Amino acid sequence: MGRLSMLFWVKVLGLLPGEVGHGDAGSLLSPHRHMPLLASRRAHMLLNRVRLFSCLFSILTPLWIVVDIYTLPSPLSWQLAGLRLLATLAFVWLTRALRPDGRLLQAWRGMAMLFAIPSLFYLFSHLLLSHYSLVGVSGIISAGYTFLPFVLLAGLAIFPLTLVECLVFALPALLAHLLSGYLQWSAMVPPVFWGAFWLQVLIAGVSALACTTQLAFMMALVRQAVRDPLTGVFSRRSAEEMLELLAVQAQRSGMPLAVVFIDLDHFKSINDSFGHAAGDQTLKRLAADLGLQLRKSDILCRWGGEEFLLLLPQTTLPQARLVLRRVRRRGLGLRPDGQPLTASMGLAEWHEDEVADWPALLALADARMYQAKQQGRNRVVSGDDAVLAQTA
Ligand code: GH3
Ligand code: MG
Ligand code: MG
Repeated sequence: MGRLSMLFWVKVLGLLPGEVGHGDAGSLLSPHRHMPLLASRRAHMLLNRVRLFSCLFSILTPLWIVVDIYTLPSPLSWQLAGLRLLATLAFVWLTRALRPDGRLLQAWRGMAMLFAIPSLFYLFSHLLLSHYSLVGVSGIISAGYTFLPFVLLAGLAIFPLTLVECLVFALPALLAHLLSGYLQWSAMVPPVFWGAFWLQVLIAGVSALACTTQLAFMMALVRQAVRDPLTGVFSRRSAEEMLELLAVQAQRSGMPLAVVFIDLDHFKSINDSFGHAAGDQTLKRLAADLGLQLRKSDILCRWGGEEFLLLLPQTTLPQARLVLRRVRRRGLGLRPDGQPLTASMGLAEWHEDEVADWPALLALADARMYQAKQQGRNRVVSGDDAVLAQTA
């Protein structure tokens, strides 16, 4: 059974070449394993789509009042117009109230509200329309109101969602259909009722496929954008983005956050003596070696040229010193001439150094790296002690 399901996933994921690997199946299933950068970019995207759609609906919803008034009998048309105005107000409020802040919870809340407004509109319009049996043009117009659940389920397709999220947002519409059938079973024609339900399930299924393929595409794009092409570690832009996220966490939760600015010593001489390609190889090897020595939650970035930035979340100053001591004891690899490759490092910590924001934390680590250069290179400089011994 386990092998069969494995085979299934391999086959299914194989249909998306270059976009997702085997390890990504979990990320397509639920959002818990998404890296912070993907989570925050996705939260922005979800919320911006919520705003776009609530803006569109706030224009389209009142426009239909004209059609209702011309085709439906009074007072039904006026009651529906009142309902439409209420829904319009809710959509306008939603468009204006939401400001993306990169948190998934906020994006989910926005989506829930976007779906709640038409759901309530559907419920009340259904109650109003159930008092009438309309034929001809008014029959056609009133039938349009019954399409809303289908539109909602199809609308899910515009969001890059995981399978679980998609199910959570689709279930209310499906359950509402079953509930309405249960409450008014005597008025139902079973084949029509089950046919409509089956259609909703199919639309939800297609939407789920659209949501997860969008997510897979987004994951691939984010992955490409966040990596430095030479070394494969995080790029400068993503380092800044992550530092911003981590700084907010450190501020809110009081958790420590250490950063290390690393500049390789006398790197230019490698290029000068052995050529640029040898320099590139040295950088690649160093990034790979360092990556192996770090924890999964540590983040190594190439800041530029032969400068790297190491972000150590939930790491105090003494713990960060221990990490660096361990790294330096193992060495940073060799230069092409067989001599050890060394670096000057500046270490700073959010709470210990009492910085106001993340650029200040970065500037401090950078300044300390320069101090390390001035003091003779191949060392770490941090706040109080200033210098850690060369081979410590
Ligand atoms: P120090 O930092 O110890 O003062 O000396 P340095 O020689 O490392 O000094 P500097 O920071 O001024 O020079 C960095 C050199 O790194 C300049 C450039 O030749 C080299 N470099 C920057 N980016 C790359 C790269 O992508 N590939 C290679 N091969 N070399 C690079
Ligand atoms: Mg440099
Ligand atoms: Mg250098």
